[in-house]
Amino acid sequence: MPESEYNEARSEIERLSELLHRYQREYYVEGRPSVSDLEYDRLFDRLAELESKYPELKQPDSPTQRVGTEPTETFPEVEHTVPVLSLDKAYSSNEIADWIQRTTKRSGQALSFVVEEKIDGVAIVLYYEAGRLIRAVTRGNGFVGNDITANVKTIRTVPLRLPEAIDVAVRGEIYLPKDRFEEINRKMETPYANPRNLAAGSLRRIKSSEVARIPLNMFAYEGAFPQQELSHIEVLEKLTVLQFRVSNRIGVFSNRLDTEDLEARYPEWSFGKFEELPEYIEQAASERDALEYEIDGLVVKVNELQVREELGYTGHHPRWAIAYKFESPQGTTTIKTIEVQVGRTGRITPVARVEPVQIGGSTISNVTLHNQAYIEMLEIAEGDQVTVSRRGDVIPAVEKVVQKNEVGNPVWHIPEKCPSCGSRLEVYGAHHFCRNNQCPDQVRGRLHFFIGRNQMDIENLGPETAELLIEEGFVQDLPDLYRFDFERLKGYPGFGEKKIAAIKAGLEKSMSQPFRVVLPSLGIPEVGPNVTELLIRAGYTSIDKIIRTAEQGESEKLVDIKGIGEKTAATIIEEFSRPEVKQRIEELKKVGLQFETTAADKTIEGEDSIPPLFEGENWCVTGSFERFNPRSKAMEYVKAGGGRTSSQVSGSTTHLLAGSGGGSKLQKAQQLGVEIVSEEEFVERLKDEGIQIA
Ligand code: NAD
Repeated sequence: MPESEYNEARSEIERLSELLHRYQREYYVEGRPSVSDLEYDRLFDRLAELESKYPELKQPDSPTQRVGTEPTETFPEVEHTVPVLSLDKAYSSNEIADWIQRTTKRSGQALSFVVEEKIDGVAIVLYYEAGRLIRAVTRGNGFVGNDITANVKTIRTVPLRLPEAIDVAVRGEIYLPKDRFEEINRKMETPYANPRNLAAGSLRRIKSSEVARIPLNMFAYEGAFPQQELSHIEVLEKLTVLQFRVSNRIGVFSNRLDTEDLEARYPEWSFGKFEELPEYIEQAASERDALEYEIDGLVVKVNELQVREELGYTGHHPRWAIAYKFESPQGTTTIKTIEVQVGRTGRITPVARVEPVQIGGSTISNVTLHNQAYIEMLEIAEGDQVTVSRRGDVIPAVEKVVQKNEVGNPVWHIPEKCPSCGSRLEVYGAHHFCRNNQCPDQVRGRLHFFIGRNQMDIENLGPETAELLIEEGFVQDLPDLYRFDFERLKGYPGFGEKKIAAIKAGLEKSMSQPFRVVLPSLGIPEVGPNVTELLIRAGYTSIDKIIRTAEQGESEKLVDIKGIGEKTAATIIEEFSRPEVKQRIEELKKVGLQFETTAADKTIEGEDSIPPLFEGENWCVTGSFERFNPRSKAMEYVKAGGGRTSSQVSGSTTHLLAGSGGGSKLQKAQQLGVEIVSEEEFVERLKDEGIQIA
């Protein structure tokens, strides 16, 4: 490595450390940050990146190695009995899903997770001895904090004496409600930027009588009890019994816990399986503005306390929790070149190759530019300096051009020909398309999509194997997958007998995937799982029926299906009339894939004969039922009857099926004026249509 590069890194580390130390002091001690959290996080991530590249340059007191800041001299210093650390961060539900998987693997057992709001306030640890509050200590540097007991005692929701004479350390967040902040801040000589800063500033006043005038409040979220409780849920219960204020906006996600009992006890909480977590996150984010306090994200925590102990901590955060942050982090970089990608449907996407930049913990080097209109709107050219954001699960996007390139490159244009096969590109709506079905990039995209976990889910056949099959010319289209003699892979590195047998078994198994899985796996534009469901329910129970309608150009028949619009109908007609699509289907049929529904794939009995009695309705379900166990069974009837379903009550919900013990969903439905239907009424409604439920 050139010496100059090393010296540059050294001086950048020094500069960043100095800046971050200052920002930490301004933020944690003075409560008056001079830069945004996004900017702080960007610098922090950059320092962490440099330190991991040049570990010998990492200082023991680096800002990345500490939590919060050193305690001040104004208040006495106190050592914490359990370290109070920062949290690891994620910015998308995919990252959360990965973390859940990693954590589960690391622990070696099935886990459940509790999701709480990440209250944007000031962390506090309350130490009780024999049931009396003896000390309230700030987080400080995570190991030593400041004793601010007198000030904390002014907060009315902090219990001074517990109903039980126990020793316990309780952690929580002190915050100032948003409306009170507005009111108080208006009168301040130097206003604060947000409620958290005002709360932090108030807690550091010398006179508690001044603190008492600020209407601070507290939520408790952790407790270290002398007798080890078994789960985080039990800790929250115990805190409530001890009269702490615990938020009831809590989610419990588990693929193993039987939550029926909990659901009855905690009607306000939300319960679900892991796959429902993204929807929960989305809903929580959308409700954020309506809350009386600020939250800056959610915290996902391992519920099993024994496992928490085993997972332990890094120097900076626990391994058993992660924060999902709402704010999308941003960074600035330069566009080196712009290239186009050809998707599996032939859609062309321009992608900017940028100078690698750290954003929210990941290195970004490719950024989507969506389409020509987007490029023109932002006037993007090669060589421009741009800000890039990482929003949720989508790939990073260019937000704006901050500085035009100096060499005079003009606004970029999508080329006339496909870079993969050379065909002339055509414009449909907002996008350019390559219409050559055998275009190598399209074949590649189609194959990767087809074998994927959410489609045919072909076990033991991953993207690397797919890539090898394409590279070697063994597979040119989907049917080849089932015709290829995998024994020919013998001798390729990593392809022993066992592996080959496993791939073959995976393919064999995929042949029994039902029609409702096969059809959307073909990657035909507009024909995803939802449209497939609508088609099947409308009587298109085999591929031949769909092809016949397409050949006769009867798009009106498709438009008649509620939920299918004109554009989708036209695409279906066009796609299923294309000879190459029909041929692919014919060949897949020959190799044995399922192209019609069979009795075995019906989710409920008599499914096909259910009239469209739920059409135009959007249902949600809560509580437990006598005749529908699991309760998702009731929702199958709704779907079979042409209705839609969702796991949370929202503005678009029209009906809530409420069983016994229904909780937060019931309340929410009442607030929103959603029609609430009992089990009896639901069964009656089905009966009126001749459907008997035992
Ligand atoms: P964090 O974001 O890592 O979160 C940890 C904290 O979350 C805990 O200590 C606790 O106080 C709080 N929390 C709220 N609800 C919780 C719950 N239900 N369960 C557990 N914890 C909960 O906090 P951090 O380490 O204080 O701060 C790092 C962040 O602070 C940075 O990412 C940055 O955004 C911001 N910051 C900004 C500046 C600046 O100058 N703008 C300076 C320093 C830090």
